[in-house]
Amino acid sequence: MKKTILIPVLTFLILLTALILHGNRIPSYVSREEPALGTFVAIKIEKTQGYEALLDKAFENIRQLEKVFSAHTPDSELARLNNLKKAEVSFHLLELIKKSTVVSEITGGAFDITVLPLIELYKQAELSGNPPVEKEIRECLARTGWHKIEIKGTTVKIPCGLDMGGIAKGYIVDKTAEFLKEHGVKNGLVNAGGDIYCFGRPPRGEKWRIGIQSPSRKDVLITDLYVSGFAVATSGDYERYLLIKGKKFGHIIDPVTGKTVQNSPAGITVTAVDASTADALATAFYVMGVEKSIKTADRLNGVEVFIIDGAGKTHQSRNFSNFALP
Ligand code: AMP
Ligand code: MG
Repeated sequence: MKKTILIPVLTFLILLTALILHGNRIPSYVSREEPALGTFVAIKIEKTQGYEALLDKAFENIRQLEKVFSAHTPDSELARLNNLKKAEVSFHLLELIKKSTVVSEITGGAFDITVLPLIELYKQAELSGNPPVEKEIRECLARTGWHKIEIKGTTVKIPCGLDMGGIAKGYIVDKTAEFLKEHGVKNGLVNAGGDIYCFGRPPRGEKWRIGIQSPSRKDVLITDLYVSGFAVATSGDYERYLLIKGKKFGHIIDPVTGKTVQNSPAGITVTAVDASTADALATAFYVMGVEKSIKTADRLNGVEVFIIDGAGKTHQSRNFSNFALP
């Protein structure tokens, strides 16, 4: 073969080999999104053998767990406990009630799953059009309080109904990621309406890129986070609120005053080692406000917070910027 032909042919072969090797190293990915948990749940994983059956099972598990924690479907396990006030509970319900009390402890009670009577009071107010009066709030407060939850073995006794809407989504995200990893998935991301856990690597780059949206404009990204083996959760009042006599009331209760949080930050994003912690802390930080939240995040391992306040100003914990680089 002439030298003039040999050089381009060799170059082509080298490039082709490099491309094939590169292609082998980076797996291709599949995504599936389904409505669940009152939102959309998206799972993205590398394409392994039998991935379709694995995704089927992952979504089936999500629906099973949804049946445990929903306070508003009468046949859930939580609804049963709320009715009986004392009952033997399943592994998952027990685990998450315990975890909730741990978050209550570290947030000085800002996170409190016993707020259900207050949530119901506000829902009632929305229907009647009259905001709750002080006396009604005080009556509810006499029943609430996470310290009043008693756990003996697998039996739980509660002072009033529990609402696990501030932590259950994160927990289900964690269980889904664990399930995928146990079945050999090395790279993946589970996203339940903004409660995210990701592991391994994305199709491009080493870490998963997670954008924080502007609370007022969904199409505007305020900043990006780059994470792997971590959870990210966001709480905000821009999507969910109650309207009573034309006035907006947030969906998060301050367990001390018994009222919905007013003048709260517009958006709070939290990182943590697992999604149930990130989810619960995001809810708690909403109650705690900017300074207390940042102080709490700064003393907790793996926890960082990014806050967009009511005026649109941003605040962040000490090491948040560690997540800012790919
Ligand atoms: P999230 O969207 O994760 O911030 O959770 C908000 C949900 O948590 C609300 O819709 C209630 O179901 C529940 N919740 C409200 N206030 C509290 C609170 N102080 N502690 C724990 N859960 C709460
Ligand atoms: Mg939450």
